[in-house]
Amino acid sequence: HASFQDLAYEFKDIMCCQSIRDSRFYNHINFTAKVKGADDLNCCTDKLFFAEVMYNQSSSELFVICLCVLDPTANGYCYGCHCNGSPDMKHPSSGYIAGHTSNVSGRSSKINCG
Ligand SMILES: [Zn+2]
Repeated sequence: HASFQDLAYEFKDIMCCQSIRDSRFYNHINFTAKVKGADDLNCCTDKLFFAEVMYNQSSSELFVICLCVLDPTANGYCYGCHCNGSPDMKHPSSGYIAGHTSNVSGRSSKINCG
């Protein structure tokens, strides 16, 4: 059973991208990638990924908080995405920081839909 690091992924498409203002600036991203060098079973199958990226304003650095393959049954709820125009964004059940409370705001206005 190969781990994430053992496999090479060929980036395909960004499906969904949502910026979230929590206590810091975050982005949640859904993208697809193809597994390279895997066995026949996994070859040529696009997998859906979730990534959370944090932007540190003071140092202008980007940090990848979370990067994982989404389980088809994953249904973590994220106020940041679901309340800011990206209700189709898929989230893992855990492992990401932003969007767990209703007190978050998006790009333009603060929306409270808790
Ligand atoms: Zn989200």
